[in-house]
Amino acid sequence: MYRCQLCNRVSRPGERATKVVTERRPAEYPSRGKAQKAGSGRRSKAQDDPGGAGYEIAKEAMVCPTCAQEQLAKDAAQEADSIGI
Ligand SMILES: [Zn+2]
Repeated sequence: MYRCQLCNRVSRPGERATKVVTERRPAEYPSRGKAQKAGSGRRSKAQDDPGGAGYEIAKEAMVCPTCAQEQLAKDAAQEADSIGI
């Protein structure tokens, strides 16, 4: 049993908890020169890591199946918004 972190309801025995992402933050990773090493010995080569951008998880919550569904729907709606559908 657990307490849902979104609606604060105590779960029924045997009810599954779901971990959902409630907050994301944009993240950028700078490129790093010679970070990727391939092989070993004298002829080993080091390649640059190009870096990039993406999202990091800022907050997670253990929630009940009902809230998980809602969160999933909200996520999908937000994604559609950001793409412009
Ligand atoms: Zn809940």
